This record gives sequence, structure tokens and C-alpha cells, in this order.
Amino acid sequence: MRSIRIGRVMGIPLELHSTFIWLILGIVVFLAVFDPSNFIPTLMLLFFLFVSVFLHELFHSVAAAGRGARVEKIILLPIGGISIAEKMPERPVDEFLIAVAGPAFNFLAVFLILLAVSALPQLPWPHSLFAGQETSSEAFNSAIMQFPLFALFWVNLVLGVFNLFIPALPMDGGRVLRAILGKLLGFNRATRIVSRISSVIAAVLFIAGFLLGNIMLLIIAVFVFLGASQESEMVAIKETMEGAGFRHVLNRKPAAAKPGESLLSAFRKMNKYNRTSLFIREKGRYAYISSEMLAGIGHKKWKTKKVSGVMKEIPAMQEGDASAKILAAMLSKGLPFVPIEKKGRFRGIAEEAEISNLYRLRRVAKGRE
Ligand code: ZN
Repeated sequence: MRSIRIGRVMGIPLELHSTFIWLILGIVVFLAVFDPSNFIPTLMLLFFLFVSVFLHELFHSVAAAGRGARVEKIILLPIGGISIAEKMPERPVDEFLIAVAGPAFNFLAVFLILLAVSALPQLPWPHSLFAGQETSSEAFNSAIMQFPLFALFWVNLVLGVFNLFIPALPMDGGRVLRAILGKLLGFNRATRIVSRISSVIAAVLFIAGFLLGNIMLLIIAVFVFLGASQESEMVAIKETMEGAGFRHVLNRKPAAAKPGESLLSAFRKMNKYNRTSLFIREKGRYAYISSEMLAGIGHKKWKTKKVSGVMKEIPAMQEGDASAKILAAMLSKGLPFVPIEKKGRFRGIAEEAEISNLYRLRRVAKGRE
């Protein structure tokens, strides 16, 4: 599922996941047809959800930056967001602090709203519902629709509780649990245990969602299931590749293109070297251009369009410090190669086929295959 870039905040690209867009469109259409009187309040609720998820993620990102991790991008989902960091924080204390920072925003918002309401009794607020005089779900639903502040309160309470108190990866609660277990058992074992717990929780959420007819629970179940298996895959890659040397698989003189070159000239180079991707290096950053990218652009534009307008940036890996994230991206998503640096200096590229062979040989060596 894709996400769409909507902007940048504090230098961090912000993306909206397609499920969020589908949810909004679905609800807008549904309301317009079946329930026009609730149209505006529901849109407001969605807006609150969007803002709260965004600030939740921003708190994660600020905490991550504070612990020395660079945040690559933030993806907003209806049930929370994902901050994608370049390197996973593996020190338990870092992971713990980054994980609790998001829900901390939601609980802070809840606290501030309660404070404001008690200090300013004239604020519109469903006091009777809150005092427990009315407890029906109709009263609750109408309070959500009538009182924006109550809606904001509720959205943040649900986000905070769901994210912090479900001990399943990739939710914040799972990260907190992994940090605590990691302190005792080490990161890899902790990840495996929490992944297993997460699969059980995913199954329970799925059954609960099915029995209660709650689509949100079903979505969370799938999200947890996918996230947890991804985390355990990362650990498997990391354990397999730990201590791997790349020197013998390096291509030190890769077929390269220049950012200012035309696409036509890049394509000619691909043919000349019989390569479907070319390496690009500019000002300490690395990128690649592939024949697939060229195929997506009309031949007529190849003469005028430049490589810099098409190329995709590619992260570098340090020799002796294999990044599971980059390797996972390579093995599953088909990055054509990864640039390898030693002490910040470019050494060469390790191509996908070489990495994949290295991975398989190491699995055999470690008795995993
Ligand atoms: Zn979070």
C-alpha cells in the first residue's frame, strides 16, 4: 500500500498512508448519502484524528532526534503513524524513550483538556456524561458529535491507550515491552519473544474484530501481524549478517551516471555496460537510476530530462556494520545495490546478487538452512 507525500515538518518528509485517504473518502461518501446531518462533526473528528496522529509522531521524531537517530520520514495511518528512522534504536533506554514519547503527547493532550474544562466550566463539555449520570452509547455518540473538545479528548485517549497498552510490535507498547525485555535478554531475543506475543495478539484482535464487527480492530490486527513478522525478519537478517565483511563482494568501479546527464545518455551507458541500473554519486550522497525508471518515462523526454530528476537516493552501509534495514530493503524490495563506506569514505558498491549470495551462504554456515 502506498503513501502520498504531503509536506515537510522540521525537515522530515510527511506522508499520508493510502488507508487514511480511503478511510476519509469512504466516510465522506457514506455520510453524504446516508447521514448528512453528521457530515461536519465527523469530518471534524477525522481532522482531530489526523492532527493528533501527526503530533504523536512528531513527538516520537523529536525524541528520536534527541537520542541521535535521524528520522527519514513520518507516515500517518488512521491508527497511529510510523516514524521511519535510518537506524533502529537498539539501546533499550533509547527505544523506551522514543516509544513512550508519542503516547506521552496524547496523554498530555487529555490532561490539558481535562484541566481546561475544570478551570473553565463555561467551555462546552458533556458534563452529565462525564459525571456518569448518562451512560448509554447514544449519549456518548451524540456527545462526540456535539462537543468538539470532547471529541478531541476521546481521540487522544484512544490513541494513547491503544498505542501504549497493546504490547505488540510495531505499536509503541510492543516497543516498550521489547526495551524492557531487551535490557534483560538482549535486543534479538527480546524481538523474537515480542514478535511471538504480537502474533497471538494479532489473532485475538482479529477474532474480536470479526465477532464485534469492528473494522478498526481488524485493520489493527493485520497491521500488527505484518509489522511483527517484519521485525522478526529484520532480526533474522541482522543475526545472519552480523560481522559480515563486504570487501570480497565489492564492485569498486561501478557503472555510473552523472546527475546532469540526459536520460538518453544514461540509457546508452546501461547498454554499453549491460547493466539495468547505474550508480550516481554526488556530494557524499548516493543514488541510482534503473531501466525500470526509464521505462516509466516516454522515450521523447529522454533527450531533455536529466538523471537528477529521476534518480532515487540510496543509503550507504558501513563496512563491518551491516544495517538490517538496508539489507531487508535490498532483499525484499529489490534495491539494485548498496554503497559501502569505510570510515565515511566510499569503498564500492555491493550488488544485489552478491548480497543475496552472501546472505544465503551465511545462513548455511550458521545452520539456518
Ligand atoms: Zn507511536
